[in-house]
Amino acid sequence: MEIAPNVHWLETGSSNVYLIIDTPNIVLIDTGTPRQQDKILGKLRQLGHQPADLTHILVTHADIDHVGSLAALYKATGAQIMAGADSARLISQGKSPKHMPIIAQWIIDTFMKYGAVPQDKISVLKDGETLPFLSGLQVLATPGHTLDHFSFFGPATGILFAGDAIDTRNGRINLTRPSITADKTAARRSAIRLLELSPAIIAAGHGTPSSSHTSDEIMQLFNTLRQE
Ligand SMILES: [Zn+2]
Repeated sequence: MEIAPNVHWLETGSSNVYLIIDTPNIVLIDTGTPRQQDKILGKLRQLGHQPADLTHILVTHADIDHVGSLAALYKATGAQIMAGADSARLISQGKSPKHMPIIAQWIIDTFMKYGAVPQDKISVLKDGETLPFLSGLQVLATPGHTLDHFSFFGPATGILFAGDAIDTRNGRINLTRPSITADKTAARRSAIRLLELSPAIIAAGHGTPSSSHTSDEIMQLFNTLRQE
């Protein structure tokens, strides 16, 4: 579904990915759970492009539901991968960051490895840099859910790719639940930073992208976060 001009939302299992068609660049944000590559490449073909046309893959964080299909997509497309420094290290080991309750974390660490990509194939994102997509896509370090987490904001379209720094499950704008948050204070601070941008569209990692929220709704969450 096209959620903004040339920005397509695709649900992959339990998480969202986004395709930005900004030729000559075609950018994928996150890759979903493992084995989603055919669905993502199918969407790309449906939009009139070949796998090799994908130029960049941006990673919000290295959880298996966001980088599960990264290795397969890299193999199929050769796209430039961009991720935070810690995420790049974890991706090279096929490991998810630690931020889950103990038993869930053990299950993930033991049984849920994903396809790895060599670290030298990943270029490292830096807070405050601007990428040449959507007339300038801002890179924002938004630690909290995981310690190395990035969000991306396009001021020209008002679109925020929030990863898991903000959640839009059940039609509500909120923070990802505390039980799977690595650093709650950082998560609050990151969310405040994102809400201050007054995003017109919140394209999060989970939940239907939000474009009908009111400034009151944003302000309410903003005030709650400020008081905590
Ligand atoms: Zn997630």
